[in-house]
Amino acid sequence: MPELPEVEAWVRELDPLVARARIESARPGHIATLKTFEPALAVLSGRSFAGASRRGKNLLFPTDDGELVLRVHLMSAGRLRYLTPGKKGPAKPMFTVRFDDGGELLLTEMGKKKRAGVWLLTPEGLETELAHLGPDALELDADRLGEVLSRDRRQLHSLLRDQRALAGIGRAHANEILWEAQLPPFRISTELSDDEVATLARATHDDLARALELRLAGKGDKDVYRIHGRFGEPCPRCGETLRRVDFEEHTITYCAACQTGGRILKDRRLSRLLR
Ligand SMILES: [Zn+2]
Repeated sequence: MPELPEVEAWVRELDPLVARARIESARPGHIATLKTFEPALAVLSGRSFAGASRRGKNLLFPTDDGELVLRVHLMSAGRLRYLTPGKKGPAKPMFTVRFDDGGELLLTEMGKKKRAGVWLLTPEGLETELAHLGPDALELDADRLGEVLSRDRRQLHSLLRDQRALAGIGRAHANEILWEAQLPPFRISTELSDDEVATLARATHDDLARALELRLAGKGDKDVYRIHGRFGEPCPRCGETLRRVDFEEHTITYCAACQTGGRILKDRRLSRLLR
């Protein structure tokens, strides 16, 4: 699933491109993709996008008259790309915005499950839709993070990737950030010292800023992720073997030497099977 750095890199790339020409038409290629009926997509025709922006992992394309916003959420397998005039794109995009210079903004989704979504909203409607999002993870200082952590008694890994608590982080960067901060994934959020909160805030910023720089340079997951998905490989900091805890839908990767004082975390999936 694309997380904040990857989405931010796309936003910066798409920002000038989507504002180059007027919108000719916008249409879904799959029935499940368009999540709103009102306003109708047809009202986009003849308008222009002001550019691209982002809220958490949502991509936003506001019209330059300030009346409408196209919101795109890529979920796990969606991809957005701009096709310059005359370029041939994929046969069955999930959603297409065609510009009057012949350029196209295309949403595609790999795999059978179509989960990516597109919403056409008024600015007020957008605020309602996204009111649940916590503060953006890239613009977080220690005070703000301290507030977020103290509000909820939660395990750090699950809190970090909860969009209501912090917007932008998913499973991959939750692993990366906790490794960077050298904190245990299951540590309880309300039990961190002020120093640990400051360390976690710095680690969040450093990890996301580093990842954004790499994404902007066109680098992929294997350059961006230092420990996520790399269980069994040596920890890049201390050389110990990286470990994992498996859940139904995701895997936590961590270094016991760097993060848990050597303690091996129980594999939840296995213990449930044995019960
Ligand atoms: Zn280590």
